[in-house]
Amino acid sequence: MERTVPDDFERMWADLAPVGRSAVSGGYFRQPFTAPEAELRGWFREQCAARALRVEEDAFGNLVGWWDVGSGPAVVTGSHLDSVLDGGAYDGPLGVVSALAAVDLLRARGVAPARPVGVSVFVEEEGSRFGLACLGSRLATGTVSWEVARELRDGDGVAFGDVVEGVVAGGSSSLLASVGTYVELHVEQGRDLVDRGAAVGVASGIWPHGRYRFEFAGSANHAGTTRMEDRADPMLTYAFTALGANKQARLAGERATFGRVSVTPNGTNAVPSHVTAWLDARCSTSESLTALVDGITAQATDRAGRDGTSLTVTAESVSPAVAFDAALAARVAADHEDGDWPVIPTQAGHDAGILSAAGIPSAMLFVRNPTGVSHSPAEHAELPDCLVGVSALADTLERLLR
Ligand SMILES: [Zn+2]
Repeated sequence: MERTVPDDFERMWADLAPVGRSAVSGGYFRQPFTAPEAELRGWFREQCAARALRVEEDAFGNLVGWWDVGSGPAVVTGSHLDSVLDGGAYDGPLGVVSALAAVDLLRARGVAPARPVGVSVFVEEEGSRFGLACLGSRLATGTVSWEVARELRDGDGVAFGDVVEGVVAGGSSSLLASVGTYVELHVEQGRDLVDRGAAVGVASGIWPHGRYRFEFAGSANHAGTTRMEDRADPMLTYAFTALGANKQARLAGERATFGRVSVTPNGTNAVPSHVTAWLDARCSTSESLTALVDGITAQATDRAGRDGTSLTVTAESVSPAVAFDAALAARVAADHEDGDWPVIPTQAGHDAGILSAAGIPSAMLFVRNPTGVSHSPAEHAELPDCLVGVSALADTLERLLR
C-alpha cells in the first residue's frame, strides 16, 4: 500500500489522464488486457488498498473492491475503465473515480452502512477489442457463456479465452452473488441534461438496439468500359439505403446509422461486386425498432430491384429495451437541494442494463456533458458537474444503505 490517504477526485482524475492517451489525437486507447488497461487495473487496486477495500476478482477479470460493513444484500457502484478506440476520458472512468470518491464522502459524513458496499470495474464494456459490448457484465451475470465468450477474437485473431486465461483462470463468476442493488454513474452521451439545465440526471431505461448486416450483391466490371446503363452496381443500392435509413429515422424520431462498410474488390477503377454495410438502429420501443428496420429493408429491396442487385439482411444482435426499476429511479431522483433530478432515457448500452435485465435492481446517474459528444476525444464534463455527480452518488448510496 503506497498511499495511506485516499486521493480526492481531482488527484484520481489526474492519475488517469495520461494512461493510454494518444499523443496524436488526445484520445484514449484502453482496450482490455493491454498494457494501458493493466495499468488502470493496478491503479484501481492501489486505490482500493488505500481505502481498505478488499479486492475480489472473478475468473473473467471483473473487479469489486469491497467495504465489508453491515450485512445482507450489498449495494455496488462502479463502471468500466476500458475505452472505445480513440475514445474520451469520461466514458467509464468517471463512474469508477466517482464511486471511490463517494465512498470517501460517505465516510467523511460518518455514514455507517447497514449493508456491504462494493466498487466495481467490469471488463470490456465497449466491446472495442472482442466485439461484444458489456462482455464482462454478461459473463458475470451468465448472460453469455464462457464457451461462447472464449472464442471471441480480436482484430489480430487472438481469442478472449487466451488473454483471460493468461490473467486469471476462465470459468464462472460468483462476484455478483451478494449484490442487491447496482448503481452506475456515467457521463451523459447526449444533450438532454444541457437542454434541461441540470448537472445530474437519472436513467429511466435504455432504448432497444439492433445491429444488422446488409449484404448488397451486384456484378464487378470495368469502371471505364461498362456503359452506365449496363451496370449492376451494389454501391448505388447501398448509397440509396444509407440515405433512406437516415430519412426514415429522422421522420420517426428514432436512430439509424450506417457506420461501417466493406467493399469488394474495393478498387478505384472497378464497379464493385459486393458491398457489406452494418446498420445500427435504436428506437424508443421494440415495436418501433422492428418497424424502422423493416421499413429500411423494404426500401432497400425495392431499390435493389431497380439496380439489378440483390440484398440479404441478417440481424447480428438485437438487445431488448431495458426499463430500470422505476421505484428505485424515483427514489434516487427525488428531493435534492436543487429539487428533483430529471429522469431520462438513454440510447447507449451499459453494464447497468445487463445487470438490470439479469434481475438485479439497478439505477444510473448521468453527469452533464456540455456538447453531448461521446466515444471521441472531445467527450467532456466540467469539474463542478463531476463533483455534483460524486455527491449525488453518495446521496444515492446513503439512501440505499440506511
Ligand atoms: Zn460507458
